[in-house]
Amino acid sequence: MALIVHKYGGTSMGSTERIRNVAKRVAKWARAGHQMVVVPSAMSGETNRLLGLAKELSPGKHTPALARELDAIAATGEQVSVGLLAIALQAEGLEAVSYAGWQVAVATDSSFTKARIESIDDKRVRADLAAGKVVVITGFQGIDPDGHVTTLGRGGSDTSAVAIAAALKAAECLIYTDVDGVYTTDPRVVPEARRLSTITFEEMLEMASLGSKILQIRSVEFAGKYRVPLRVLSSFTPWDIDITEEAASGTLITFEQEDENMEQAVVSGIAFNRDEAKVTLLGVPDKPGIAFQILGPVAEANIDIDVIIQNVSHDGKTDFSFTVHRNDYTRTMELLQNTVGPATNASKVLGDPKICKVSIVGIGMRSHVGVASKMFRALSEEGINIQMISTSEIKTSVVIDEKYMELAVRALHKAFDLDQDAAAA
Ligand code: ADP
Ligand code: ASP
Ligand code: MG
Repeated sequence: MALIVHKYGGTSMGSTERIRNVAKRVAKWARAGHQMVVVPSAMSGETNRLLGLAKELSPGKHTPALARELDAIAATGEQVSVGLLAIALQAEGLEAVSYAGWQVAVATDSSFTKARIESIDDKRVRADLAAGKVVVITGFQGIDPDGHVTTLGRGGSDTSAVAIAAALKAAECLIYTDVDGVYTTDPRVVPEARRLSTITFEEMLEMASLGSKILQIRSVEFAGKYRVPLRVLSSFTPWDIDITEEAASGTLITFEQEDENMEQAVVSGIAFNRDEAKVTLLGVPDKPGIAFQILGPVAEANIDIDVIIQNVSHDGKTDFSFTVHRNDYTRTMELLQNTVGPATNASKVLGDPKICKVSIVGIGMRSHVGVASKMFRALSEEGINIQMISTSEIKTSVVIDEKYMELAVRALHKAFDLDQDAAAA
């Protein structure tokens, strides 16, 4: 008997029929003798619907006061899901109880719309488990020190589930979703993408941070910090499949040091991100301190910066570009045009919200040279211009025109033989 956490995403919770299926699956695990904690997301489309309503009435300016209300509204999606799932479990003949984040409590900081979990009180949940109940806890939400409801950012139910698994020292956290595991790239963009039976924690961290929405990055960070055994698998298999078969399906995130002698794929996956925008300051003086003069005010305005590029200088002047989240694009442009541009004597401020970032990821890149150049060749063969490049030990990212994104992902998937069976490659 083990303590197991199941997480079900929005599509898996998308209708009463699907919720019934989730309940039947959870009941199967409970009847096999496991202590079960279940973390569901809001029903598919619900979070968007709720935030859409708020947007219709919002004054437009993103103030802390608005963010507080957005969280109070968005959190209701998960509140409905836990109640429905608890009822469905009761209908299966199990004792089940649902809790909102504040009831557990899942304590977070006060960064509305992107709060971080600080601690989880396991007392109440442990007492229920000991009494033989299945415990259903809202994903995505928590409570801040002042008692305000917070949410963890889009896709945050993954993080709730892993954090709850860590707090309860669960034997495993199973993330049930609408695909049957982690693929070499998003199978909705590249149909030839292959499921990986395992992926290293470091690779999963890069994939998530570079835009793969299969797991929220903070869930992977939690799994790494607390060594939570984590598996991504399908909620669309028949609920009554053999439990041992189900427990071994999908993709396992591994933590062990890779065997040095093992033939390691150079590139394991491709991630892409359409959520960024590029800004450029032309003709700024090329002198010590200029990067700080530009990026300091941006950081002060709480705007996260991703890729940065500074060009070679001509006549003491240089061009400076960086990318930000697309939601911050307008704010960044205003800041550059009104403040930073004049302060640095920039000759012009340019902006391009229609860019994307495509990245190749693989721990095999550590021990192979020429991986980046193979990437650049594949893109040039498709006539795709690279605007920015960023590398680290196990990834290379390029910023390109958004309209070439799918072409680039497909070309790279082929160039690195990701559509081939690992054994055959
Ligand atoms: P859930 O609602 O279950 O949390 P999400 O929509 O958040 O599901 O995440 C699952 C989706 O992630 C898949 O439907 C798929 O389109 C997308 N995805 C992106 N990258 C990958 C990848 N490398 N492997 C599998 N799925 C991916
Ligand atoms: N319901 C939230 C969202 O749509 C959280 C989640 O699904 O993980 O982002
Ligand atoms: Mg998700």
